[in-house]
Formats: sequence, structure tokens, C-alpha cells
Amino acid sequence: MIAWQPEVVFVERGLENSRILSNVRAYYPSVPVHAFEPPLPMPPKDFAAAKRQLVIQRHRGSFLHHCPAGTTGLVCCNYLVVHLGANCPFDCSYCFLQEYLANSPALRLFANIEDALAEVAAVLRRHPQRRFRIGTGELIDSLALDHLTEHTRTLVPFFAAQNNAVLELKTKSASVDGLLALPASENVVVAWSVNAARVIEEEEPGTAPLAARIAAARRLQDAGYRVAFHFDPLIALEDWPKAYREVVDLLSASIDPRRVAWVSLGHLRLSPGLKRAMRERGRGTRLLAAEFVPGPDGKERVWRGLRLPMYRSILQWLESWDPDIPRYICMEPAGVWERTFGEAPSDQEVAARLVGRAP
Ligand code: SF4
Repeated sequence: MIAWQPEVVFVERGLENSRILSNVRAYYPSVPVHAFEPPLPMPPKDFAAAKRQLVIQRHRGSFLHHCPAGTTGLVCCNYLVVHLGANCPFDCSYCFLQEYLANSPALRLFANIEDALAEVAAVLRRHPQRRFRIGTGELIDSLALDHLTEHTRTLVPFFAAQNNAVLELKTKSASVDGLLALPASENVVVAWSVNAARVIEEEEPGTAPLAARIAAARRLQDAGYRVAFHFDPLIALEDWPKAYREVVDLLSASIDPRRVAWVSLGHLRLSPGLKRAMRERGRGTRLLAAEFVPGPDGKERVWRGLRLPMYRSILQWLESWDPDIPRYICMEPAGVWERTFGEAPSDQEVAARLVGRAP
């Protein structure tokens, strides 16, 4: 279980008997719980303090969204995200939530997962010819709080029963006990963000160390799950060839490449608002010291002269590990794809290659 714990819990009236609240009470018996009527109570201004204010609520409005990578000018993998909560118990220095959730930073868990799945089911039914890749790890870590939400108990059987969708659970935790208690499904992929050990130690407080992430992935593979890895955000460390080679070596020492659904690579991306939020919080000072250039989506990245060799080298190491692992780069324009892979596939082609691989 992760080290985070709430300091106070707010539960929307009507959810006092919810599974989430009963788990919260069991795990954190001394934490005060207050019932509230929407709107949400005002969270503390401090972002880190707001993450320890836990809100259990019904989500109103749409759960399913297109991944923000679907921006003009970038090759996109047609990824959909379903939001089952917002904000995260970890506090990575570069996290975009510092900007995105600046006005509602409390850590929210949505208790009405049945409404989310009804919306997903309707979309899958409307497009039987399409094969969807859907993730839950955009605004909240997919597994870190599974001991409270138990969302995997609902999600895994739901996606196991679909014939045109794959669920990706994305995490920086090693919280896989809930999944291990369920029968694995080919339609469920569990993905880890991985990074150089130094980046994890310095920039991703509260998350599981690299070795623990890989060990958790191995346990899931042994239980029949497919796994995936995201080298994201890549950081142009001075010794990046050594630092990222070590990550690939650790993966190849433990993980069965035939059960790796995909691996993605993406460089650090910083919007002006995120840079401002990081500076205000005194976070990521070393990351911000690099030179950045603006991209077509208004976000800054290190210049191509650094991005391309890092992509090419890591992709080559992955290819030497197993040439059949599907690989892609995230949130990059067609020109970077061409100079990395020698081609710039359409969004549909990228998506089809990722979900079309037979297990
Ligand atoms: S794990 Fe992801 S969502 Fe959580 S703080 Fe880190 S970057 Fe943000």
C-alpha cells in the first residue's frame, strides 16, 4: 500500500454507505469524515495539502474523453480516457495536474463507476467495427488507490466481456494485489511509467522505485496479464545513454517481451502554465533549467537535436530486446516520427497497430 493518507475526508450526501467510504474508514480509522452537499467545499490553496483532502463524490457529466494528444499537428494514437477520479496521491515535480487542477485540487474519487461504464458501453456498441484503447490513468493513477476504490473489481470483468476494447491501467505504484485476485483478461493491459532511477528518486516522490514497478509487472505477467511501459517523461540527463540503457536492461532481465502489449516514449512537455506552477511551488528546478522550444500544441520540449537521438537509441535497445514489441512515440509531430521510424503513420494506423497485436 502506498504511504499517502488523507488528513480529512468529505463525502457527498447519499454516499455515506459507499464501498469507497467504508474502505477509507477501515484503512484510516482516525481520519475525520464530513458529509457535504455539492458544490465541493473549498480545498486548501496549497496543492500538496489539497492532495490530502479526499473527496468522495458522484461525477456529473461525461466520463469519457479523447486524450489531449489529439491536437492538430501531432500524430495521435486515438486513445480515450475515462475519468474515475481527479488528482493523485503522488506529487511528481513535472505533473501537468499542477496546472490542470489548480482550481479544484482536492483528491476526488468518483463513486458512480456504473455510470462511467454505461457511457463506455454505449460508445462501444455504437462503433462495433472500431477497436478502442481506453485508459483510466489520465487524471489519477489507475492503481495507487485501488485499495480504497476497488475499481479494478468492476473494470476488469467489464472489459473482459467486450470484444472491441482494451483497457489500459496506468500506474507508478506497485499496487497490484487487487488485480492478482481477479482472473486476467487479454483485454486488460497494466502499464507502468518508467524512468531513469535518478529521475524517479528526485522528481517522483511517493511513487514506487523502478525495481518495485518491474517486480509488480512480473507478478502480473505470471498471473496471465499483459503489461506495457511508458518511458515518459524522458529527461535529457547528461548521462542519458547510461541511465536509460539501465532501465531497458532491468526490464529485459525480468519481463517476458511476448507479453508486453506496447512501449511508448515521450519527452518532457511543459505548457507555460505548468512551468509557472512548477516555479511557484519550487518543483523541478533542474528540469526547468534545460533549454526548450515550443511545439505545435503550445507546449515546450527540448530541441529535436536531443529528442531524436534519445528516441532512436532507446528504440534500438528495445528492438534488440525483442523486435516484435509494438513501439510508438507520444505527442510528437509527423516530422519527428519520420526521422525516428522512417515513416509517419496516420492516427488510425498507430491505433490499429497497438490494439491489433494478437496475444
Ligand atoms: S503519478 Fe502521474 S498523475 Fe500522479 S503526480 Fe505523478 S505525473 Fe501526476
